[in-house]
Amino acid sequence: MDLSVIIPIYDEESNVNALYDRLSSVIWGLGLSKFELIFVNDGSKDNSLGLIKKLASQDPAVRYVDLTRNFGHQIAISAGLDLSVGKAVVIIDADLQDPPELIEPLYRKLSEGYDVVYAKRRSREGESLFKQLTAKLFYRLLTQITEVEIPVDTGDFRIISHKVVAALRQMPERSKFLRGQIAWVGYRQTFVEYDRAGRASGESGYTYQKLLQLALDGITAFSDVPLKAATVSGFGVSFIAFVATLYTLYSRFVAHNYVPGWPSLMISVLFLGGVQLVAIGVIGKYLSRLNADVRRRPLYLVANSNLT
Ligand code: UDP
Ligand code: MG
Repeated sequence: MDLSVIIPIYDEESNVNALYDRLSSVIWGLGLSKFELIFVNDGSKDNSLGLIKKLASQDPAVRYVDLTRNFGHQIAISAGLDLSVGKAVVIIDADLQDPPELIEPLYRKLSEGYDVVYAKRRSREGESLFKQLTAKLFYRLLTQITEVEIPVDTGDFRIISHKVVAALRQMPERSKFLRGQIAWVGYRQTFVEYDRAGRASGESGYTYQKLLQLALDGITAFSDVPLKAATVSGFGVSFIAFVATLYTLYSRFVAHNYVPGWPSLMISVLFLGGVQLVAIGVIGKYLSRLNADVRRRPLYLVANSNLT
């Protein structure tokens, strides 16, 4: 199998046929001997599954999986990855926001010896200013606070080699943030730029709540910075408490310029605040170790070696 294309589907009945037409003409153009289109139906409430089944009966390259309910975009893709057998795997949205025609340059770049070629958005259309702005901010923040380099302005539209798929299968973490995981895997990665169109038709299955959840999953899966913030602010507050204590002692015993009750109140509030934040930071440190162990990612991946 040369190529698998994974398409998560959630209420896309108005796009399925157009997507299939464009996808298959692009892939036929690549001149591959064997490929599969894996439609993952993520609990659609419309007739998406019916349309997919019809395509499958006409075209043996069409395969489908029907999940029992809506598990979410990232899990739908993971299901597709588990079932794919291609030497290269494309992940693409069903709403034609990811142009199928880009698969050709993605595939060509991969053939040059890369293992990941992601599609980077030069511009995006048909999305509210608020969504564009929050997305931009999110990607910038994420690269700031993570150690692995997660590419900015990039969704899940990309092509990956079977080696990367094998690595992803070794990452059993439950809250999936695939674009981060793929960055974590390593190997040779590059990108192709494109202009992102608006949705062809239908409505976005991503509510702001789901987007926020995805953003939080991305941050907590790849960064301990929020936890470290507690430690840092704990030491900050403790330092302020120390200075304020000196000042209140000075006011109380040297300058004799104070309101009764104020010195003891100031000192205890600031001191306790500092102690609590430091304690949270300590717990946070243990939590982050625990978190890393619970994820059970491999410690490292080997690209090549001359040992048996
Ligand atoms: N999708 C899914 N499950 C969901 C939400 C979305 O499988 O719970 C699919 C959807 O059918 C589409 C892709 O994920 O193929 C991207 O979703 P959408 O276009 O709604 O997201 P947006 O582009 O608005 O961020
Ligand atoms: Mg979309």
